[in-house]
Order: sequence, then C-alpha cells, then structure tokens
Amino acid sequence: MSFTSTVPTNQEGIQASKKVAVTYTSPDVKVREPGRWSLQGKKALVTGGTLGIGRSVVEELVALGATVYTCSWEEEELDQRLKEWEARGVPVTGSVCDVSVQDQRERLILDVSSHFGGKLDILVNNAGIAIRKSAMEHSLEEYSLLMATNLESAYHLCLLAHPLLKASGSGSIVFISSIAGVVALFSGPIYGMTKASLNQLAKNLACEWAKDKIRINSVGPGYISTSLTEQIFSDKELKDNIVRRTPIGRVGEPDDISSMVAFLCMPGSSYITGQTILVDGGMTINGFYPRYEGNGNDK
Ligand code: NDP
Repeated sequence: MSFTSTVPTNQEGIQASKKVAVTYTSPDVKVREPGRWSLQGKKALVTGGTLGIGRSVVEELVALGATVYTCSWEEEELDQRLKEWEARGVPVTGSVCDVSVQDQRERLILDVSSHFGGKLDILVNNAGIAIRKSAMEHSLEEYSLLMATNLESAYHLCLLAHPLLKASGSGSIVFISSIAGVVALFSGPIYGMTKASLNQLAKNLACEWAKDKIRINSVGPGYISTSLTEQIFSDKELKDNIVRRTPIGRVGEPDDISSMVAFLCMPGSSYITGQTILVDGGMTINGFYPRYEGNGNDK
C-alpha cells in the first residue's frame, strides 16, 4: 500500500523542506567504529559499588572494557567484594570512603587520581541512603545526613573530579537519582528533594562543562530489588501494588539500571547531556491504568 502526501508544501506559512547534504555512516562502518559501543580502556569511579545498583554498574562497566575504582563505607563489605572480584579476574580496585564526609571525599579523589594517572573518563555517583518518613517525622539530623550523603557528596565529588574528567578529553558523569525526584513517593520528602536536586545539577553542569567535553546525566530508577527496598518488598500487598502500577509488570533488577548507565558513558551517547532518564518499567508514565496487562515476562 502506498500513501500520497496531501500536505501542500509551498503554501504560505508552510516551509517546504530543502534537501541538504547529510553524512550517514554506513552500517558496517558504524559497528566497527572504534569505541562507539564499548568502554574499552576507560577509567571509572563508581561510588557505593559493593552492593545493589552500584555493584551491577561496576560489573557492567568492567564487562564493556573499563577499569573501575569503587568505594563503600564498610571496610569488611568492601574487602569481601574486592577479594571476590580479584578471584574472578575482574579489574576493580577500591578504598573505604564515607561519601558524606568532606575530607574522606578529598582523600578518595586523591587516591583515584594517583591510581589512574590523573585522568578519569567516568564518574558514577551512586552511593545513597533512604530514610522513609513523612515530613513531620524527620529530625534535622536526618535531614543533614540525607543531604550530605545523597546530594552534597555528588556535588563535591563532581567538583573534585572535574580536572581528571577534563584531562580525559571525554568525561561522563552519571547521577543515580530516583523517580522520587520527579514524582512524590512515600520514600519521604527529603529523599525526594535530594534526588530532584541531582536532576537539576545535571542540567546546570551539562551547560557549564560541555566546553570541557564533560557530559552529565541523571538516571532515575523505579523500584529495584536491592537491600534498600528489601523492607518494602517484604510487604506483599505493597509490592503487588507497585507491580500493578508498573506497565512492564514487575519490579526492576540492578542490571536494568546498569545498562542505561553504561550507555550514557559510551561514545554512542555523545550527544546526550543534562538529561534525566527514568528506568522504571513505565511506572511514572502510568497516569491511571489501574491494572497492568503485561505479564512481567519481558526478558
Ligand atoms: P544498596 O543499599 O543496595 O547499596 C548502596 C551502596 O552505597 C552500598 O555499596 C553502600 O555501601 C553504599 N553507601 C551507602 N552510603 C554510603 C556512604 N555514606 N559512603 C559510601 N558508600 C555508601 O542501595 P541501592 O543499590 O538500592 O541504591 C543505590 C542508589 O540507587 C542510591 O543512590 C539510591 O538512592 C538509588 N535508588 C535505588 C532505588 C531502589 O529501588 N533500590 C530506586 C531509586 C534510586 P555499604 O555496602 O558499605 O553499606
């Protein structure tokens, strides 16, 4: 079947499209273009890489050719994970750092700089905590802790890592934000505020640092199975409600997030900056479809 356009193209007010020369790379060259879909040789720092989403990001980046440095605040947990990776020949180094503490962040970037020879291609600000309380239940101490861990740490690490990312000539920063930074969730107003701020920070830094060839994006996960959501998912009714609101028909896994993070670090995404990309099985675009009709078996 063929269609004929009925839109008049030379009428007043309608601009007829002019044919211009566009360069297209042929498909066979595209797949072979060095590095377009790879992280070969890239140097990455992922905060909070011992568990959950961070761990999946570490392993995804490594699988695509990167060398990774990570940190977490619990020495025992970190040592155990580093030993596991070493035994499997996975190139990951790490050190203890509580990202909510200023001098520990400074120490971390000094260590990363000396480990990677003054250059860094990728910074993934993943470490974060949640305190699920309503506004009136939060203490000021909890407010400060959430702000320091989720927001101040990411902001400060970006500033500290800026010279290293600039030196690499094609830096990529990814914030692990949350859908709680875009819509109101019962994960608490302060948690949501920290995540919304990360989304805004990505926009401002994207504009300020494009000249330094650094891209900054935010990835907002929906409900993902990790230790952070263990308590929520142990409530069957609550979990069923979450799934019912999710068009894809299941909760997410850390690997659903790490693939997006990896893409945002690749040369193939070199025209994407300042964006917030929600990876949530469609939960936040579901205005009101009370029951999903998917079967959750999308993979
Ligand atoms: P996990 O609790 O499973 O993992 C958190 C990681 O961050 C751990 O490695 C932990 O280290 C580390 N960490 C926590 N606080 C600090 C700190 N102060 N300094 C250094 N490291 C720290 O959580 P998730 O994987 O679920 O969460 C990762 C990110 O994803 C967070 O920013 C979270 O807000 C975000 N997110 C998660 C969602 C979910 O549904 N799971 C949804 C939306 C966003 P250690 O092992 O030493 O404790």
